[in-house]
Amino acid sequence: MSTPPPRPPQARLASGPDGAATLRPLLSAVLDALDSGRRARGGPLPAGGPPAVAARLRDAVGDVLPEHGDPQALHTLVHALAEGAADPADPLCAAHLHCPPLAVAAAADLAACVLNPSLDSWDQAPAAAELEALVTRALARLAGLADAVVTTGGTESNQLALLLARETHEQTVRLVCGANAHHSLPRAAWLLGLPDPVVVPAPDGTLDLAALEEALRGLGGPRGRLVVAATAGTTDAGLIDPLPQVAEVCAAHGARLHIDAAHGCGLLFSDRHRSELAGLDAADTVALDLHKLGWQPLAAGLLAVRRPHELAVLHSRADYLNAPDDTEAGLPDLLGRSLRTSRRPDILKIAVTLKALGRTGLGRLVDTVCARARQLADLVEARPGLDLYGPPVISTVLFRPADADDDTVAAVRRTLLTEGRAVLGRARLAGRLWLKATVLNPDTRPDDLATLVKLVEGSTRA
Ligand SMILES: *Cc1c(COP(=O)(O)O)cnc(C)c1O
Repeated sequence: MSTPPPRPPQARLASGPDGAATLRPLLSAVLDALDSGRRARGGPLPAGGPPAVAARLRDAVGDVLPEHGDPQALHTLVHALAEGAADPADPLCAAHLHCPPLAVAAAADLAACVLNPSLDSWDQAPAAAELEALVTRALARLAGLADAVVTTGGTESNQLALLLARETHEQTVRLVCGANAHHSLPRAAWLLGLPDPVVVPAPDGTLDLAALEEALRGLGGPRGRLVVAATAGTTDAGLIDPLPQVAEVCAAHGARLHIDAAHGCGLLFSDRHRSELAGLDAADTVALDLHKLGWQPLAAGLLAVRRPHELAVLHSRADYLNAPDDTEAGLPDLLGRSLRTSRRPDILKIAVTLKALGRTGLGRLVDTVCARARQLADLVEARPGLDLYGPPVISTVLFRPADADDDTVAAVRRTLLTEGRAVLGRARLAGRLWLKATVLNPDTRPDDLATLVKLVEGSTRA
């Protein structure tokens, strides 16, 4: 028998004895293509708007499933994606809670891809399972809670929080949330078949306490029937609900408390800003997203819980993954740590980041972006042609051309997008449309902030 000819590099494995030798040149091709694509783009996002970007991408890709393979595919597609990317590492790309990931986290994620542990059974992820248990508990403790499960982000965390509420109280629970709550909360109520949520006004962007108290008094009912969702870091404005007071009102009315800290949780790392999250530890559940103020590549979400036994409702049995005799013999049962089955080890990049930077290293990044946001707010305030919504609480700055109508504000944003000059978001608050800059890039320089302000002024006049 003759040995078969070796497969071409693009058909070899990432791991095993030849993994490193196979990967090294491919990684080098990826790094080159990322760089050439970035240079070809030459700005925070590709110019020309959707039709031009789509046409360029289609041209670059060609046949997506050719009859025979193309050894240049890796370089071609990575270059095309980078050329057409909205790049959060460019300081003028500051619309969303879309962070530039840390290199150390991206490198760790490569290892997760190569080893490919799947966290649905111990025999697919022996060490990853233990790492996840260690790190989720540590992060839960940082938030003042007891344990946490890994999710794909705030959306899944909010769903799980409502599911735990529903299953723990064995009755129809009703969500009470602010008008400032993330859209995924009412959507989770819909998905779980809960009654329509009660929406409490948030006239200044945060939950109105008197209105919350009145709603809870009016709704009444047995303990745990109402689940209040408060927000620590609204998506639009980065505002934090009055958490200690919300917690008091919930305790007084026997309501369960979920805090959506998907945005604000990064403040926990900072000595300077941590106190802004006082009250977080009074929650029954807390949503945390480290792919925002934690500089992780997507996805890196967690749901922290005060009472770990509540997670028991996620338990599920599949003989091939957690047979009772295997569990009895001491194989950890992982299936109940998620509603997903196959599950990638997002915990590795998180663990590497926590250990490589330490709490103070992450805290410094948080402090830096918060300080940059304040500088941007100061620049805006100094310009007579611009209005500032208010001083930033985290790192979101809302502003608008003074005396412009909402259509003009929306058009300024779209013009900057289409020209490929800046990526700014939009938010409707206090009855008006605002431009939103979410500063998540710690390398942003004062010059970049000045450029952003000039671009907005220039496109308003145009
Ligand atoms: C981003 C965000 C979410 C949603 O999180 P995903 O990670 O996008 O699923 C939920 N709540 C708040 C407050 C957020 O900022």
